[in-house]
This record gives sequence, C-alpha cells and structure tokens, in this order.
Amino acid sequence: MSVVLRAGQQLWDRARRVLPGGVSSNVKMEERPQPLFFARAEGSRLYDCDGNAYIDYTCGYGPVILGHAYPPVVDALQRAAARGFNYGGQHEGEILLAERLAAAVPCIEMVRYNSSGSEVVAAAVRLARAYTRRLKIVRFAGHYHGWFDEELFATHPAPDGDAPPEPESAGQPASSAAHVLVAPWNDAGALERLLAAHQGEVAGVLMEPIMCNSGAIMPAQGYLERVRELCTRHGVVLIFDEVITGFRVHLGGAQALLGVTPDLAVFGKALANGFPLSCVGGRREIMDLISSGSVVHAGTFNGNPLGVASALATLDELARDDGAAFHRLTATGQRLMRGIREVAGAKGTPVLVQGPGPVFYMWFTDQAAITDYRSSARVSREPYARFAAAMLARGVRVIPGGRWYVTLSHTDADIDQTLKTMAAALEDIRKPMRGEA
Ligand code: PLP
Repeated sequence: MSVVLRAGQQLWDRARRVLPGGVSSNVKMEERPQPLFFARAEGSRLYDCDGNAYIDYTCGYGPVILGHAYPPVVDALQRAAARGFNYGGQHEGEILLAERLAAAVPCIEMVRYNSSGSEVVAAAVRLARAYTRRLKIVRFAGHYHGWFDEELFATHPAPDGDAPPEPESAGQPASSAAHVLVAPWNDAGALERLLAAHQGEVAGVLMEPIMCNSGAIMPAQGYLERVRELCTRHGVVLIFDEVITGFRVHLGGAQALLGVTPDLAVFGKALANGFPLSCVGGRREIMDLISSGSVVHAGTFNGNPLGVASALATLDELARDDGAAFHRLTATGQRLMRGIREVAGAKGTPVLVQGPGPVFYMWFTDQAAITDYRSSARVSREPYARFAAAMLARGVRVIPGGRWYVTLSHTDADIDQTLKTMAAALEDIRKPMRGEA
C-alpha cells in the first residue's frame, strides 16, 4: 500500500466543519478511507493534494469522456472565457450546438440547455405533462433521474416487493409521490399492465435506456421496441434519460446504438467532457410548447458560452473519423472487462462484469448475469466497497458502488497497470471477502 494522505487528512478535517459531510454531493461521501482532495487531473490520471497519482475510472462520475484537461477542450474554453462568461443573451454557439445535436441524436429536432442532469429531467417531465395534459410518470426500480423532489424515487427500493414509490430523502414531501408509478425494468408485460390499469392518466415513461444506475444492464432483446409501441399506443411520451449513456456509448446516445427513438431525451455528463452543460431535446411538436410560452423553461446559466464551447470541442473529438472514438472507447472498456474477469478467475474470486464497455459494472457474485434491479440489489455491496478502497490505496480510483468509466485517454499500459493492481488488491481483501453475504 503506497498512498499516504497527510494534506488530504487536514483538508478533510477542515472540510467537515464547513461542507456538510465534507463534500459537495452526497455520493462523494462513500469513498474510503475518506473522500479525497485533488490538486489536478490530466489524461487518465488524477493527482491528489499529497502528490499521489491515481489511474482514474470515476471520470468525474461519468462526464470525462475524452480525458482530463483534454487539450482541444481546454483551448476552446480558454478562447471562450476571454470573450466573456454570460451575455444574458443569445450567441451563435447555441445554434451550432443544437444543429450538431439534431444531426447526431435520432430523437432531437429541437433542444434547450441547462447545467445539470436533474434540471433537464424536470424539464422533460414538465413537457410530457403539458403535451399529454396528464400527470402520472412511470419510473423503473433502480433507475436514478436526479435529486429533485419529483424525481428521487425508486432508485433504492427494497429488492423484494412491488417497490411502492417512497421518497428517498428526508424533507421530500410525500405528496411528490402522488403522480409516480413504479414498474420493474426489462419487463414489457409489467409496463403493459400498468399502462392499461392507468389508461388515460400516464403522461410519460421515463427510463435509462441502458440501466447504468444499479448496474450496467442492457435492455432485453425487443424490450425497448415493445416499450416504444406501448407508449405510442397509449399516447404516452417516451423519455430516455441519457445523462450517462449520451455521448458515452455512441455519438447518438443509446437510442442510436439500440435503434429505438424516444419522443424526448435528456443529456448531461459527457456532453461537455466535464463542464456543466445538459440538454433536453426531442420532437418539435413537444419542444414547441416552450416556444409558445405555455411551458416555462428557464435558467440563468443556460447556454452559457463556456459550456457550449466545451461541448462543441468535445463533439468535434467524438465525431472525428466517423465516430472512431466510440470504437476505441468500447475496445478499451471491453479489454478491461475481459482482464478483470481473467484476474479474478485466476484468484478464484467470483466476479460478474457487465456493460457496453465505455461504462460497465462489476459485482462480486457468482450470478452468471444480472438483468434486473432485484438481482443487482441482492449482491452485497460491502466486498466491492473494500475492493475499491484497496484499489485506491494502490493508486487506482474506482467508484465505490461498482460502476467503471473509461476515457479516450486510457492506454493499454494503464489497463495493464490496473489489472496488476487489481490482482494485488484482491489479495489485500481476500480473507474478509469470504464472508460475503
Ligand atoms: N439521470 C441519470 C441517469 C444520472 O445518472 C444522473 C446523475 O448521476 C442524473 C440524471 C442527474 O444528473 P446531475 O447529477 O447532473 O443532476
């Protein structure tokens, strides 16, 4: 174990006095032995305030797709910053980006920008309700759509039972559950029954098209097609939450990769390689409800020149050579996935590694596949959290929950080093891991 945290310990002590939990977003409290403090990041590497270097697979919890401080994006941001941060008015970049998004993403005819994923989910839900003049939104157990009162449901329901919509946060009004219906994902029959039972009440079906929260779970063969048909038949707006999958699995998002087009989709994270920019986009007749002023959509920072410049530079890189970036990202992720299986196999440790590649998930389990929330939630998280801590202590940073992201900056040498580290980390945690629930 090589990592020593001295300055990091001092910052952690100071942070807890002024930042609740010592962090700025709850998920970052999970890191062990404590949340880290970073001084800089470059390519595939993070450098903490004690000078320790880490190969990074958190990638900002998803946004960093090209690599940290990626030079063309840094150049674009520096040039944009010199021209001013916020005009309180329009600029050509907003149009250029919207045109690029419409060309790349199947469902997009028009877009609006915000800064975070949570905001654009809220916008999409409002649009669906206004368009259909109905209120109910169907959600799926294990999916996450942001932290707002109306969205924070069913991400961590009890694995057994029918997952009644329960607020997940203190302070979240019980009334915000009034219009939420929860279904199991990857089960077209369950959705069919729910829509039939609530005929004429459902405004939108909101889902991650690849279930990345709770595991990188691909839709079953024909599932999304069936969901599309059901939504069309019931006059329900189909909303894909592509905050994780957008610009990570394909230039056109999971909808392009999987060939099913929703009515609306939301994007965030990788859109601007880590700069805060998100968007909601989709069919013109729905988005036009904003043009007429009947649907309110707003935000002081929306379409700011820095976010837009960062996104344009990111899309330039991702679109280069006919989308070759996605072949590389997929190949890198899949090589790592194969390597993890091999290393774990050689150590006699049962692991399951699943996902498209640019994002994937790892569980300590002997299950052959995980296709739904229930089987994911039944795997004990504790052994993985200890594994993540052991990796961190040896200079590889992974998200403590099990999801991995790769960037275009990860090299074969990074992967080799990661797999060597993994072999050692498995030894570090070997004995206690036998007690897995
Ligand atoms: N939707 C999905 C699928 C997410 O994974 C997240 C965040 O992780 C969000 C929405 C919320 O995005 P943000 O954290 O930018 O508000």
